Amino acid sequence: MLALVLHLLTAPAAYPPELRSVPTTKKVVSIAVNVVWGTEYVPPIVQALKAQGDKATFFLGGTWAEHNPEVARQIRDAGMEIGSHGDKHRHVGSLGIAANEEEISKAAERIKAATGVTPTLYGPAYGELSPAVHLAAQKQGVRVVMWSIDTIDWRKSHTPAIIQQRVLARLQPGAIILMHPTDRTAAALPGLLKELHNRGYRVIGVQELLQQAGRTAPPGEQGGMREQRVG
Ligand SMILES: [Zn+2]
Repeated sequence: MLALVLHLLTAPAAYPPELRSVPTTKKVVSIAVNVVWGTEYVPPIVQALKAQGDKATFFLGGTWAEHNPEVARQIRDAGMEIGSHGDKHRHVGSLGIAANEEEISKAAERIKAATGVTPTLYGPAYGELSPAVHLAAQKQGVRVVMWSIDTIDWRKSHTPAIIQQRVLARLQPGAIILMHPTDRTAAALPGLLKELHNRGYRVIGVQELLQQAGRTAPPGEQGGMREQRVG
């Protein structure tokens, strides 16, 4: 058994690596917004992005989308990209392949029913990764997306100023910035987007970021922290 575990840990990955950032010299970054709570802050976040001509990828929970179809459609209608944050925000790192596949497929069904979009990008709940998560994603035909800059915006002590500082201090071309719908994030965005523009950056969805770069990040290039919030 130990030998098997060691083999699984050390064998070369049979699946594509998760995406944390995209190597590019172009001044482009993506914002990834995970949505399973904070519904009331989604519209102001969408508006802040739209007002400045920016885009983000919203990774929707499947069950969330089923319960909030109007908000899900608002996101789509504002021209934002739609990804999947799994169905029920389970701790997917401790689930097997079949349960992981169900998290992905159920979410896809519910997100498609709400928005008409079948997501091809998948942000696992809590940022949990495992061979089962990767293999399930591969079987379901979705790309696993993590991040290179974590705003940790779910933490109440993280004021809009702290959120802005965290992004600007770690800013580099091809970064993926993780956010959630909170009042501090909504308050931070207009100023943050302006500052990104001042520094010559465009803010685009993750799919567009991949297309712009034309290739994907090598495995483990940048360590992203796990999404820590419970809920
Ligand atoms: Zn989450």
